[in-house]
Amino acid sequence: MLERFVAGRDVRCPGCGYSLRDLKADRCPECGDRIELRVNLSDPRLGLFIACVIGPAVGLGFHATIILWYGVVHLFGGYHLGLRVLSVPIVSTFVLAAGMGYLLKHRNPFRRLGWPAKLAWAVFSWSCTAVSATLFFLLT
Ligand SMILES: [Zn+2]
Repeated sequence: MLERFVAGRDVRCPGCGYSLRDLKADRCPECGDRIELRVNLSDPRLGLFIACVIGPAVGLGFHATIILWYGVVHLFGGYHLGLRVLSVPIVSTFVLAAGMGYLLKHRNPFRRLGWPAKLAWAVFSWSCTAVSATLFFLLT
Protein backbone atom coordinates (compact mmCIF):
# COMPACT_ATOMS: atom_id res chain seq x y z
CA MET A 1 0.00 0.00 0.00
CA LEU A 2 2.92 2.34 0.75
CA GLU A 3 4.38 1.77 -2.72
CA ARG A 4 1.02 2.49 -4.34
CA PHE A 5 0.52 5.61 -2.20
CA VAL A 6 3.86 7.22 -3.11
CA ALA A 7 3.75 6.10 -6.78
CA GLY A 8 3.74 9.31 -8.84
CA ARG A 9 3.21 11.52 -5.72
CA ASP A 10 5.69 13.98 -4.30
CA VAL A 11 5.29 12.85 -0.66
CA ARG A 12 8.00 14.12 1.72
CA CYS A 13 9.75 11.99 4.36
CA PRO A 14 8.44 13.21 7.75
CA GLY A 15 11.96 12.82 9.15
CA CYS A 16 14.17 14.60 6.64
CA GLY A 17 11.88 16.03 3.94
CA TYR A 18 13.36 13.94 1.11
CA SER A 19 10.91 13.17 -1.69
CA LEU A 20 9.60 9.59 -1.46
CA ARG A 21 8.15 9.67 -4.98
CA ASP A 22 8.13 6.15 -6.48
CA LEU A 23 9.73 4.63 -3.36
CA LYS A 24 10.07 0.82 -3.69
CA ALA A 25 11.07 0.01 -0.07
CA ASP A 26 9.86 0.87 3.44
CA ARG A 27 12.92 2.98 4.28
CA CYS A 28 13.75 6.54 3.33
CA PRO A 29 16.72 6.47 0.93
CA GLU A 30 18.06 9.72 2.43
CA CYS A 31 17.88 9.26 6.23
CA GLY A 32 17.29 5.49 6.40
CA ASP A 33 14.29 5.78 8.77
CA ARG A 34 11.47 3.28 8.32
CA ILE A 35 8.35 4.66 6.61
CA GLU A 36 4.84 3.35 7.24
CA LEU A 37 1.41 4.26 5.96
CA ARG A 38 -1.16 4.81 8.74
CA VAL A 39 -4.55 6.28 9.55
CA ASN A 40 -4.71 9.14 12.07
CA LEU A 41 -7.47 11.22 13.60
CA SER A 42 -7.63 14.65 12.03
CA ASP A 43 -8.74 16.25 15.32
CA PRO A 44 -7.77 14.11 18.34
CA ARG A 45 -9.70 16.38 20.82
CA LEU A 46 -7.27 16.04 23.72
CA GLY A 47 -8.18 19.25 25.61
CA LEU A 48 -9.80 17.66 28.67
CA PHE A 49 -7.24 14.85 28.76
CA ILE A 50 -4.43 17.40 28.79
CA ALA A 51 -6.29 19.35 31.51
CA CYS A 52 -6.47 16.13 33.54
CA VAL A 53 -2.74 15.47 33.20
CA ILE A 54 -1.67 19.07 33.88
CA GLY A 55 -3.54 19.06 37.23
CA PRO A 56 -1.31 16.48 38.93
CA ALA A 57 1.73 17.76 37.01
CA VAL A 58 1.33 21.18 38.64
CA GLY A 59 1.03 19.54 42.07
CA LEU A 60 4.05 17.35 41.36
CA GLY A 61 6.10 20.41 40.45
CA PHE A 62 4.98 22.22 43.60
CA HIS A 63 5.76 19.34 45.96
CA ALA A 64 8.98 18.36 44.19
CA THR A 65 10.18 21.96 44.55
CA ILE A 66 9.48 21.84 48.30
CA ILE A 67 11.35 18.54 48.65
CA LEU A 68 14.26 19.93 46.61
CA TRP A 69 14.26 23.12 48.68
CA TYR A 70 14.28 20.99 51.85
CA GLY A 71 17.32 19.11 50.54
CA VAL A 72 19.21 22.30 49.58
CA VAL A 73 18.46 23.95 52.94
CA HIS A 74 19.51 20.77 54.71
CA LEU A 75 22.87 20.81 52.86
CA PHE A 76 23.66 24.51 53.18
CA GLY A 77 21.86 25.42 56.42
CA GLY A 78 18.97 27.77 56.98
CA TYR A 79 15.30 27.49 57.93
CA HIS A 80 14.40 23.83 58.38
CA LEU A 81 11.00 22.31 57.76
CA GLY A 82 10.03 19.56 60.17
CA LEU A 83 9.45 16.05 58.90
CA ARG A 84 5.76 16.42 59.80
CA VAL A 85 5.47 19.31 57.30
CA LEU A 86 7.56 17.45 54.72
CA SER A 87 5.33 14.37 54.95
CA VAL A 88 2.60 16.10 52.88
CA PRO A 89 4.91 16.80 49.89
CA ILE A 90 6.36 13.30 50.03
CA VAL A 91 2.97 11.54 50.16
CA SER A 92 1.52 13.98 47.60
CA THR A 93 4.39 13.35 45.19
CA PHE A 94 3.70 9.61 45.21
CA VAL A 95 -0.09 9.98 44.99
CA LEU A 96 0.01 12.59 42.20
CA ALA A 97 2.66 10.64 40.26
CA ALA A 98 0.53 7.49 40.51
CA GLY A 99 -2.55 9.41 39.33
CA MET A 100 -0.66 10.93 36.43
CA GLY A 101 0.77 7.54 35.47
CA TYR A 102 -2.71 6.01 35.60
CA LEU A 103 -4.10 8.74 33.33
CA LEU A 104 -1.27 8.40 30.81
CA LYS A 105 -1.60 4.61 30.74
CA HIS A 106 -5.39 4.75 30.28
CA ARG A 107 -5.67 7.58 27.77
CA ASN A 108 -7.52 5.46 25.19
CA PRO A 109 -10.35 4.42 27.58
CA PHE A 110 -10.44 8.09 28.69
CA ARG A 111 -11.06 9.14 25.08
CA ARG A 112 -14.22 6.99 24.97
CA LEU A 113 -15.79 8.77 27.99
CA GLY A 114 -18.44 11.40 27.47
CA TRP A 115 -17.49 15.03 28.05
CA PRO A 116 -19.25 15.26 31.49
CA ALA A 117 -17.14 12.35 32.77
CA LYS A 118 -14.00 13.88 31.24
CA LEU A 119 -14.81 17.22 32.88
CA ALA A 120 -15.38 15.44 36.22
CA TRP A 121 -11.95 13.78 35.90
CA ALA A 122 -10.35 17.15 35.13
CA VAL A 123 -12.00 18.77 38.17
CA PHE A 124 -10.98 15.78 40.32
CA SER A 125 -7.33 15.88 39.18
CA TRP A 126 -7.05 19.64 39.84
CA SER A 127 -8.82 19.15 43.19
CA CYS A 128 -6.19 16.61 44.25
CA THR A 129 -3.50 19.20 43.60
CA ALA A 130 -5.46 21.93 45.41
CA VAL A 131 -6.11 19.69 48.44
CA SER A 132 -2.47 18.61 48.68
CA ALA A 133 -1.22 22.22 48.46
CA THR A 134 -3.81 23.36 51.03
CA LEU A 135 -2.73 20.57 53.41
CA PHE A 136 0.89 21.67 53.04
CA PHE A 137 0.08 25.30 53.91
CA LEU A 138 -2.16 24.28 56.83
CA LEU A 139 0.70 22.27 58.35
CA THR A 140 3.39 24.92 57.75
ZN1 LIG B 1 14.09 10.66 5.45
